[in-house]
Amino acid sequence: MKSLSISGNLSNFVTLKKLKKLSNQNLKSNTMAKVKGDIVINIERCKGCEVCVPACPNSVIALSKNVNGKGYHYAESVNEECIGCASCAIVCPDGVITVYKVKL
Ligand code: SF4
Ligand code: SF4
Repeated sequence: MKSLSISGNLSNFVTLKKLKKLSNQNLKSNTMAKVKGDIVINIERCKGCEVCVPACPNSVIALSKNVNGKGYHYAESVNEECIGCASCAIVCPDGVITVYKVKL
């Protein structure tokens, strides 16, 4: 009976498996469409309750120093880090935030 010899050792095989997995992950991340978010706030309907501010994971929203027609400091977008997660729109009690997702 012939015996089978395997060169290399188990740790080499594990490493190769990991490399294959990593390369598949890289392939996926390179082929997946990148998405950016953006929000539009209806500032005249905003009552400045500030609920949306801590709801944003990327600190995109802050209250303006200016006030709207009703005298409220309204919410505004302060950076470009929106990922379109919609948390702000979900928590806004007056539904004044619209979220857009843009494929890059
Ligand atoms: S959609 Fe998400 S990331 Fe964008 S402003 Fe609202 S909470 Fe922040
Ligand atoms: S949760 Fe809505 S009403 Fe309150 S500050 Fe934010 S946008 Fe304005």
